[in-house]
Amino acid sequence: MAEKPKILIVGGGAAGLELATRLGKLLGKKGLAQINLIDAKRTHLWKPLLHEVASGSMDTGREALSYRAHSTEHNYYFHLGTLASLNA
Ligand SMILES: Cc1cc2nc3c(=O)[nH]c(=O)nc-3n(C[C@H](O)[C@H](O)[C@H](O)COP(=O)(O)OP(=O)(O)OC[C@H]3O[C@@H](n4cnc5c(N)ncnc54)[C@H](O)[C@@H]3O)c2cc1C
Repeated sequence: MAEKPKILIVGGGAAGLELATRLGKLLGKKGLAQINLIDAKRTHLWKPLLHEVASGSMDTGREALSYRAHSTEHNYYFHLGTLASLNA
């Protein structure tokens, strides 16, 4: 039996997080591919909210999205790490 395709998304920002969520639903949930998201940080915070962090009106500990928790609910794997280079 052919090995399941593996998809790696680097960066869980606005784009990467949305992509991982969609592919998790479309492919990961059905077992058609293994979806992996790697990010240098453990949590995601929507950048337009940064002014609230700067002004002290937001508690990032409460508002930031945990990649680990989100990944288990949305059928993808999260890896904490940084892409350093790419072998072409
Ligand atoms: C203050 C502020 C306000 C904004 N307001 C708006 C707004 O009102 N409306 C709007 O549409 N847009 C707004 N934007 C722009 C919007 O936030 C960006 O367009 C959007 O975040 C870009 O998404 P992205 O996925 O490309 O990158 P990002 O959201 O920046 O995500 C990049 C991710 O990649 C990770 N990463 C980076 N390098 C590596 C690496 N080498 N290895 C592993 N992980 C890595 C980072 O940790 C990060 O999680 C705002 C931006 C800022 C800074």
